[in-house]
Amino acid sequence: MDELNPFKISQAQLDAAAEIMNLDKTVHMILREPMRTVEMKIPVKMRDNSTELFTGFRVLYNNARGPGKGGIRFHPQENIDTVKALSAWMTWKTALANLPLGGAKGGVICDTKKMDEHEIENLSRGYIRSFGNLLGPKTDIPAPDVYTTPQIMAWMDDEYSKIAGNNEFGMITGKPLELWGSEGRFDSTALGGMYVLRDLAKKAGIDLKNAKIAIQGFGNAGNFAFSLVKKMFGSKIVAISDSKGGVYNPDGLDYAGLQKAKQQSGTVSDYEGAEKISNEQLIESDADIIIPAALENQITQANADKVKAKIVLELANGPVTPEADKILFERGIYGAPDFLVNSGGVIVSYFEWVQNISGYYWTEDDVYAKLDTIMSKSFADVVKTQEEYAAKGKKINMRTAAYIIAVQRVSAAMKARGWY
Ligand code: NAD
Repeated sequence: MDELNPFKISQAQLDAAAEIMNLDKTVHMILREPMRTVEMKIPVKMRDNSTELFTGFRVLYNNARGPGKGGIRFHPQENIDTVKALSAWMTWKTALANLPLGGAKGGVICDTKKMDEHEIENLSRGYIRSFGNLLGPKTDIPAPDVYTTPQIMAWMDDEYSKIAGNNEFGMITGKPLELWGSEGRFDSTALGGMYVLRDLAKKAGIDLKNAKIAIQGFGNAGNFAFSLVKKMFGSKIVAISDSKGGVYNPDGLDYAGLQKAKQQSGTVSDYEGAEKISNEQLIESDADIIIPAALENQITQANADKVKAKIVLELANGPVTPEADKILFERGIYGAPDFLVNSGGVIVSYFEWVQNISGYYWTEDDVYAKLDTIMSKSFADVVKTQEEYAAKGKKINMRTAAYIIAVQRVSAAMKARGWY
């Protein structure tokens, strides 16, 4: 297996769960592939009046339990295998959280750091002109992901509504509040992850107040994780990074200083008063908990045995390869899987969709309380499944337990629909 191909990784994870749960062969065959994969060229007028041709993707992995749901990523290294993998993980994520949704994902190969706002708006609207007929509140509902923002969601919603001839706020989530985004959506991914951390630290016997934490990534997920870890548990954050590198200080880093460095030079690695480290060093840093919150394939066969932390909390999608997963499990490190840890984003996206469809809006307290209920239930379900398998003499990690629950739910819906 190509160790770093995300789609092959997602298939290998499914295969491992299928074997252990003795999954029906036909179901396994259906679940190994996306139901719909679309690639389109998007012509975009640039600032200098030239036209650039971008490549975009939208994959609907499985909609047995409801409309497709999943973000759109704008990234220079975007590719179809990443989108397929992310759409599979969305399917398992919505099923594990027991939401009435399926899984999907989209992306565009582009470098937004080299584009101005006007060009990004044109690309966002172009994406909807190309893919809009595949999207909708009852078919497939996008959201933000890496390098896409609430503003981009607002442009996409506006373009979709213009084509539809009426406002369609439920066709996309992660919108700004002015366009009926949900209260609490902005930090929901990180907050959901904190609920998992709270429950997992208790199980692992780790006192979060005295824990040292390293976070990889300082975007939506990493940035909010930083402030929430401090606010909720009082832990010390000793390392942080972004795409340009990171910093480490065993006495802790302060949020205001990181924000200042990011604003002044565009990277947290210019934070004053800490040792500069690479993203690779961050993974091996002296911390009790590491929170990957950037991209895929950060912990691999090559560095899994160098991880010093007791918990790896996967706030990013796909940061740990299957080979690394095995090594971490054998070493007794608690690996909290991505589609449990970062499901807060899609759960509050689901709340946003429900509010848009019903036209009745909730308070931030309502959103947070409902999010905690679902996250705590998902965590308890995963632990219960691990215990049930342990009683049968099969020791499984949290990821496999989460897969078993999700796959059972998707299979049951496919069975009821008569797909096999
Ligand atoms: P973002 O665009 O807001 O931030 C991405 C961060 O990753 C930035 O700090 C960037 O500098 C850093 N980064 C980029 N390349 C890197 C590299 N090679 N090494 C280290 N850092 C790098 O994106 P986000 O929304 O925070 O998403 C981060 C992860 O969380 C992704 O895996 C995404 O799929 C996942 N996720 C996000 C959400 C959400 O609601 N935003 C929900 C679920 C999962």
